[in-house]
Amino acid sequence: MKKYWYPLFMLMASVIYLLLEANLIEMHKEVNSFGLAIYGSMSLIMLISLFVVQKIVSIKEVYFYLSAGFSFAYISLFIRTVEAIHIYPLEKVYVFEDLFRLVGFGFVVAAIIKWIKHDEDIKKELLALASIDDLTGVMNRRVFDMELKRDFANAKRYNKPLSLITIDLDKFKDINDKHGHFFGDLVLKMFAKEVSATLREGDIFSRWGGDEFCIILHETSGKNAMKVAEKIRFAVKNIHVKTDSEPIYFTISLGVTELHTDDSDPMVLIDRADKALYQAKDAGRDKSVPH
Ligand code: GH3
Ligand code: MG
Repeated sequence: MKKYWYPLFMLMASVIYLLLEANLIEMHKEVNSFGLAIYGSMSLIMLISLFVVQKIVSIKEVYFYLSAGFSFAYISLFIRTVEAIHIYPLEKVYVFEDLFRLVGFGFVVAAIIKWIKHDEDIKKELLALASIDDLTGVMNRRVFDMELKRDFANAKRYNKPLSLITIDLDKFKDINDKHGHFFGDLVLKMFAKEVSATLREGDIFSRWGGDEFCIILHETSGKNAMKVAEKIRFAVKNIHVKTDSEPIYFTISLGVTELHTDDSDPMVLIDRADKALYQAKDAGRDKSVPH
């Protein structure tokens, strides 16, 4: 009940006004039944809308604008209703009454615009949240898969080069075992941050799962992708994660591949980059291997 105090107050004020002024009804005049029906029901709708706003609107700004809008509209229509039953000679207040209605509808329109914008912002936020990996904040695998499909199709259609790099942290299990999961997580986060800073805008970087990451490089040949891979491999050597004891340094292995004209599926690219990655691991880790 507490949240309805405002429309209840408006209702009570209107009833009290009608009761106090009832003696002023000019009995010789006939009630304008048409006006009473139209303006009476419209003001009732405004009042009900005011109750509904209290119930359903939780966005502060929209709530304020809608409450103000329906209040102004209600007051203006209430004046018309009063006029319809000839309680009071109202010629002088018509200007204010029109102004009130205008302001009221202005507030309602502003509220609707704000509501729509807020809705769009929320949708964007949710979409952004659904596309990122919780731990590292980079793109998650679900969105990466969609992105790869699209980039693969575009590169094939327009005959553009496209490269893919898969990355796996070396001996990451040992880091977890030696320093604990907390510092393992920190390593993943700092790694993701470093790679994001190394890449260009437009490159797609994603956590593929666990300690494995993937990068799509648009309009980039395999040769240039190798340069990027080596840049990342060296950048990672500068990361040191502080712990209570000695800092953690780590290395990564990378598999690099480019789009071939006869590749029929984006997964072929992933498979080839993964094979190259395993070759890097087999060859002693801390390497970039092309395939
Ligand atoms: P290799 O050089 O062969 O890659 O050795 P590795 O120890 O890194 O082996 P592997 O890549 O198979 O191990 C991945 C480990 O990553 C296993 C798992 O415990 C750990 N891991 C996966 N996800 C997370 C995570 O979110 N946080 C932490 N701290 N560890 C994770
Ligand atoms: Mg690993």
